[in-house]
Amino acid sequence: MVLENKKALVTGASRGIGRAITDLFLAEGAEVWGLSAGEPEDLVARIGGAGGRLHWLRADLSDLGALEGIIGEALKEAGGFDILVNNAGITKDNLVFRMTLDDFRKVLDVNLSAAFALSRVVGRDMIRRRSGSIINMSSVVGIHGNGGQANYAASKAGLIGLTKSLARETASRNVRVNAVAPGFVGTDMTAGLPDKVKETMLEQIPLKRMGTPGDIAAAVLFLASDASAYITGQVLAVDGGMFM
Ligand code: NAD
Repeated sequence: MVLENKKALVTGASRGIGRAITDLFLAEGAEVWGLSAGEPEDLVARIGGAGGRLHWLRADLSDLGALEGIIGEALKEAGGFDILVNNAGITKDNLVFRMTLDDFRKVLDVNLSAAFALSRVVGRDMIRRRSGSIINMSSVVGIHGNGGQANYAASKAGLIGLTKSLARETASRNVRVNAVAPGFVGTDMTAGLPDKVKETMLEQIPLKRMGTPGDIAAAVLFLASDASAYITGQVLAVDGGMFM
């Protein structure tokens, strides 16, 4: 088990990619603090199944004022996190000229500013302890852009800038910061896309399938574990070869 005795904070842990990360971390021996806006329906069963190694934080990442306090309390309870995964994210898609300023800001707040706020609180403690791994969930859209997703793409590009800057600031203290850029993954976020859009996207994927949450979780596990001890400031695309 590669995460034995490690403590991890994972945002957006209730479903999709964050849930797969949480389950894989637990299976690899970690103690996990999952965070989401609401509680998953099967939370009691999940906590029971994890044998005391799963804790839950209910917090709205768009409430940036309250966030640092909530995370500070969790940090105290945990006695420090070895791993932070800023995974939670939302979309509010529209063409730029139809997108409201409010929808632009909301996506930036949840996807980017919350990651900044959490990294400040958790990262400061990692620096003090001279150890830690932060993983930010970007997207291929943050590298290449996507019509109809200017807010989302800007937030995901911003996460890459945050990742590389923080990696430079923390490397001398043995704190690593990396990003994962998933392609097209089967979760609630993509479930509502019209079939035509899904077909077009599949045509662009050399591996000829959508990614699974497990595909992304495996990459996050690698970056969280000591197997990637000499890797920092990188963006790992997990996209079935969509962009080479
Ligand atoms: P999802 O919609 O299935 O899950 C999102 C998670 O984020 C949920 O746990 C939800 O509770 C949490 N969340 C959303 N808003 C929140 C808020 N205000 N406060 C607290 N928690 C909040 O999404 P997913 O597909 O699992 O995506 C996870 C991450 O991966 C996101 O950052 C997303 O942008 C990124 N991503 C997904 C895909 C994809 O194809 N699904 C592709 C590239 C990147």
